[in-house]
Amino acid sequence: MKAAAFAYARATSVVNALELLAMHGDKAKVLSGGQSLMPAMNLRLLSPDILVDIGGLAELRGITVRGDVLVVGALTRHVDLLRSPEIALHARLLRDAVAHVAHPAIRNRGTIGGSLAHADPASELPACVVALDATIVVRGSAGERRIAATEFFRGIYETALLPDELLVAVEVPVAGQGSTFFFQEYARRHGDYAVVGLAARAVVAAGRFSALRLGFFAVGDRPLLAVAAGKLINATVTPALLAEAATALADELDPQEDQQATAAMRRHLAMVLLRRCVAALLARPELGMG
Ligand code: FAD
Repeated sequence: MKAAAFAYARATSVVNALELLAMHGDKAKVLSGGQSLMPAMNLRLLSPDILVDIGGLAELRGITVRGDVLVVGALTRHVDLLRSPEIALHARLLRDAVAHVAHPAIRNRGTIGGSLAHADPASELPACVVALDATIVVRGSAGERRIAATEFFRGIYETALLPDELLVAVEVPVAGQGSTFFFQEYARRHGDYAVVGLAARAVVAAGRFSALRLGFFAVGDRPLLAVAAGKLINATVTPALLAEAATALADELDPQEDQQATAAMRRHLAMVLLRRCVAALLARPELGMG
């Protein structure tokens, strides 16, 4: 299928993009890498009157360290996350995760801003920014807003972004001493959207978690920061405690059934991922066997 007719405007600056969005309201759509938007338009799931192309805005590109925050511009492409030394050093979780996003052709054009704004509950990067306790920076005609990642995702393809706002950057706290990461997903084939996945950040000292953030994806209508992680913090993790946390996790999840998996299968896989994650982060393989 082909997209319905639409007008096209190439923004010359962020200010110009915001003017265009303010002028057209919810009849406009922002175009970044086009890797989700164009398929949706071709399938006539979306029919905006006008596309506001921000792809040429250099001010939205780049990865910089400012004090203890890593600032990732909205137009940073998936492939840039894979190659960036700053990401490898300070937020390795993003690099580990993005290797699972689609295929090279899509990673060469798709952007972090587009992925977060699109808010597919099976996407890797939304769960990563939740696990990393990142802040999403958005700009609109009323000024700039900074939104905690946990507050940004509101439902399937729904975010806190208003129609006249642009996602301009993501701020990630740099990994402190003792920080470790875990990323794993189950997908039918490499590059497919995940059936269930887990992105985690932890601080481990003397064999215990002093911090643990578990961002599950494809287990509900948005990425889930698991409350069950709290059971494992500042505690000696025994198989019994881990089983208790896994049961608590299963109660927290609200997975959908679709052609990929039943809800029960997704719950089971999330519990398996939890065990594997804890075993890997604590370097105690026996915990992953349960
Ligand atoms: P676009 O397609 O340009 O935009 C997506 C949406 O976000 C649109 O609604 C657009 O208006 C809005 N938007 C974009 N940028 C901004 C901004 N800065 N501010 C406000 N709104 C904005 N993704 C995964 O996560 N995991 C996968 O496994 C995966 N597999 C894929 C497989 C295929 C075959 C394809 C075609 C895509 C797949 N994707 C997957 C999606 C891909 O990662 C997209 O690149 C990404 O979701 C969107 O980024 P984009 O820059 O292309 O955004």
